[in-house]
Amino acid sequence: MNYYSLNKKSPIVSFKEATILGQAPDGGLYFPETLPLVDQKWIADMASISDVDIAFEVMKPYVGGSLNNDELYAIVERTINFPIPLQQINEDIFSLELFHGPTLAFKDVGARFMSRCLGHFLKDEDRSVTVLVATSGDTGGAVASGFYGVDKVNVVILYPKGRVSAVQEKQLTTLGKNITALQVEGSFDDCQRMVKEAFKDQDINSKKFLTSANSINVARWLPQQIYYFLAYKQWQYKTMPPVVSVPSGNFGNICAGILAKVTGLPLGPFVAACNVNDIVSEYLETQRLNPKETVATLSNAMDVGNPSNFIRIIELFQHQFSDLKQNLSAQTITDDQTIETIKRVKKADGYTLDPHGAVAYLALEQILAQQPQHKGFLLETAHPVKFPDAVEQATGEKVSIPAALSDMMKRENESIAIRPDFEDLKSFLLNMP
Ligand SMILES: *Cc1c(COP(=O)(O)O)cnc(C)c1O
Repeated sequence: MNYYSLNKKSPIVSFKEATILGQAPDGGLYFPETLPLVDQKWIADMASISDVDIAFEVMKPYVGGSLNNDELYAIVERTINFPIPLQQINEDIFSLELFHGPTLAFKDVGARFMSRCLGHFLKDEDRSVTVLVATSGDTGGAVASGFYGVDKVNVVILYPKGRVSAVQEKQLTTLGKNITALQVEGSFDDCQRMVKEAFKDQDINSKKFLTSANSINVARWLPQQIYYFLAYKQWQYKTMPPVVSVPSGNFGNICAGILAKVTGLPLGPFVAACNVNDIVSEYLETQRLNPKETVATLSNAMDVGNPSNFIRIIELFQHQFSDLKQNLSAQTITDDQTIETIKRVKKADGYTLDPHGAVAYLALEQILAQQPQHKGFLLETAHPVKFPDAVEQATGEKVSIPAALSDMMKRENESIAIRPDFEDLKSFLLNMP
């Protein structure tokens, strides 16, 4: 498979090159040249196929020419090695639990796949790569864990001091080895601005090969399709395609699901569940994308004012607005509604949602109210323990820390404090071994 840049001003590249580069030289996002159709007979037989075999089949066409079957199999085997259950919450609503991975976030799937690909592609090369990311919380942890100990890859993570949760900070700062956390005396926007400047800086780029590990990278975006297939494998109502509600920020996750649907997975319409950062619902009304300043909310991983991946969704529907509207709606959920939903679902169904899952739950419930003959599932993208304040405020109960995390919580945080000033980041990167 080859990939073209959506800006159409850069050459076509292989999966390997797209993974190493991240973004095309013309600033565009990479997009697959053809959309491989899924075999419907294989879909009908999916219940008897293992999760790893499903993941392998889903990814095979996208990596062709860059990874052979054995290499891909080894990578998916080490990506999907935790359960992804579809739990029933009540009669009409199910939760696809994506938080059973090492950092309790759905981003583990994409980050693990990408890190293993990048490690593989660099094996025979004499260069090493620096992965540079800014995080408001979950991206950093998943990337740190995914790349930990991968040869020829150094990871530098910028995070805003005092603005990530305790669990998130441990995940960033306690690994060591090839992972360095920079604690910035500023906001997430400062972190992001500094990272963007680094990607443009000639001194740095003449000495270091920088790449990014966010969802614009095809090796992080595409494997997110896998769990939509695993959800369908567990869906009991095969004559009734599920409505799918996805808590959305940068729109990488929902875009992967729509790709799975467009290539043949029998899913119903998608709901983009958004907090008050809702420029996509405005787009669905007006056909205009107006980036906005982000507003801080309880579902902070979705506080995005200019979702990078939305342009890929437009491309998937070949710029046909009416097709897009038939397959995608958006709902806006406030913080008060988020808290109220966590409380209500806990009380009525005994199920604990995290704030992101709660936004998706309510958005789905609102859509199903208009289509009473349907059922659906939401993507529960993080474990509630990562957002203990909101969950405790809503339920009045402490969320207990899973056993897998308690060792980590005892380790010392190690990070380097820097000012929200690009020169600090630059001198750090230039002096790195
Ligand atoms: C990143 C994240 C999201 C948003 O995913 P996108 O692919 O950026 O739309 C939702 N929930 C959680 C918990 C996240 O970490």
